[in-house]
Amino acid sequence: MTEIVLASRNHKKVEELLRILESQELAVTVRSLAEFPEAPEVPETESTFVANAMLKAHAIAEFTGLPAVADDSGLCVDALNGMPGVLSARWAGGHGDDAANLRLVLDQLQDVPEPRRGAQFRCAAALAVPDSVGGIGLEQAVEGEVSGRLLTEPRGQGGFGYDPIFVPDGYELTTAELTPAAKDAISHRGAAFRALAQLLPRLLVG
Ligand code: IMP
Repeated sequence: MTEIVLASRNHKKVEELLRILESQELAVTVRSLAEFPEAPEVPETESTFVANAMLKAHAIAEFTGLPAVADDSGLCVDALNGMPGVLSARWAGGHGDDAANLRLVLDQLQDVPEPRRGAQFRCAAALAVPDSVGGIGLEQAVEGEVSGRLLTEPRGQGGFGYDPIFVPDGYELTTAELTPAAKDAISHRGAAFRALAQLLPRLLVG
């Protein structure tokens, strides 16, 4: 069976990618970066989700010698001209301080009225396939997006990051109030992983 490695140590992402590949009936084994403890940490230094996802997929494909999938995602707020964007994980300074990041966005939108509280979660997923001489033979990136609006106070216990303030278009619940399956079905990451899964049979041939 074909093996790919997901360039993430996040168990939830590995499970989400597995669920999506299984639902597309693809015979692919997904390995987690947790199985490669010596793998390099790849800083997200680029200015777009696609470029960051490519950077990680490249580095991990080169390191492991396996086709590698990487993703990069974030929240783009209309009233902040698309920020925090690629800076979503460290918007308040410290990397991955979800509570502080969410609070800072709420503070920044304090005076922004309902009609201008639009935002999108965006995700890029990239695949890099190694060649036989230690380089990269092939690479491809796809994107997924979900649009919605931001509340003035957090609601819900599920999800992570900015989920408690994000209500997808057509919904009344925040993504922190949806079940994981319901969120996957409409999420930016779900959309990007599904789009990539559709390309995998062609990209992994040979
Ligand atoms: P990463 O792509 O896993 O590095 O995520 C970047 C940051 O974007 C996270 O730390 C969150 O702040 C935010 N983010 C990405 N996807 C989601 C989501 O599905 N819900 C809430 N926040 C998200």
